[in-house]
Amino acid sequence: MSDSPLLDRRGRPLRQLRLSVTDRCNLRCQYCMPEEDYAWLPRPQILSLEELARLAAVFVSCGVRGVRLTGGEPLLRKNLPELVARLAELPELEDLALTTNAVHLPAHARALRAAGLKRLTVSLDTLDPQRFAHLTRRDRFDEVLAGIDAAAEAGFRGTKLNVVVQRDFNVDELPALLRFGRERGIEVRFIEYMDVGGATAWTQQMVYSRAEILEDLREAWGEITELPRRDAAPADRFQLEDGTVFGIIASTTQPFCSSCDRSRVTADGTWFRCLYARQGTSLRELLRDQGEEAVRACIVETWSARRDAGAEERFALKERRGPLQNPGRPADEDPLLEMRTRGG
Ligand code: SAM
Ligand code: SF4
Repeated sequence: MSDSPLLDRRGRPLRQLRLSVTDRCNLRCQYCMPEEDYAWLPRPQILSLEELARLAAVFVSCGVRGVRLTGGEPLLRKNLPELVARLAELPELEDLALTTNAVHLPAHARALRAAGLKRLTVSLDTLDPQRFAHLTRRDRFDEVLAGIDAAAEAGFRGTKLNVVVQRDFNVDELPALLRFGRERGIEVRFIEYMDVGGATAWTQQMVYSRAEILEDLREAWGEITELPRRDAAPADRFQLEDGTVFGIIASTTQPFCSSCDRSRVTADGTWFRCLYARQGTSLRELLRDQGEEAVRACIVETWSARRDAGAEERFALKERRGPLQNPGRPADEDPLLEMRTRGG
């Protein structure tokens, strides 16, 4: 592959890959898995660790420089450090990260670090154990806190904390969450509630915007300065007067499709060029039957034709905007449309 990046129809390079290693989860967050029943991806279709590593290597050969392992909950995948070790060997890969709800970090943080994982993002939306149990429908708050400590003890630095902000749920905790992060050297990233697949309970009213988040934090902590953008990362970054840096991911009210350099592979090897896309491309059979070169040719051809701008299209719906999928939809309707398969 030459050094010139592979560009899509809007001039966006293929740089970041979210690689989902499972569609299963040990929590049931209301904004991600609110339904009673789910159809799980059939086991024979789930890629082996070997296949995931081969697929990721092809993406890297096409220009990907950052891989983020995700899920579902990625720490439910057995022997995950083996995959991390394989990916850490890829010389062109500059960043190797993992997003987790942290429940299993006490057991796995050291092995992941030893295998070569560079960075962690932990998801936690509240510091109140009862609220946590209500939001996630599981009583595992203490394990998450232990997981955050375990990450630091294992030597992880530059950990980030994802906080999904929902009106009438956790907006009174934003200053406290920022303090929680500051005390641990963790950069907090507030995420606007997104109307992605799986978020069948989404309403416009529950979205707490970037502007509202900033107003609350200004009231609590004083002057806020916006930092210049460093790359195509989704978070806008800000700084408090005391030097604390935090981010806001405002994809619901301020879509950033024009700079989107990421795509997603689900645990069954389906490739989506947009978080909102209804159609993906199955790379699984191509990899299994024809091998790396065929996958590479498919990636080059498909990315070159990419026009996706799903968040902008959702934004353009204005007051007609509602959940992408209907509440109570049949459990087997379309697991691949859901955030728990696409990994955020
Ligand atoms: N289970 C892992 C976790 O929660 O960190 C990884 C997968 S999860 C789908 C990835 C990220 O997506 C999490 O930070 C989660 O909070 C976020 N997320 C899920 N549904 C969301 C929604 N409707 N709006 C905004 N963020 C969402
Ligand atoms: Fe929550 Fe992540 Fe599980 Fe979704 S995949 S229910 S966000 S822990």
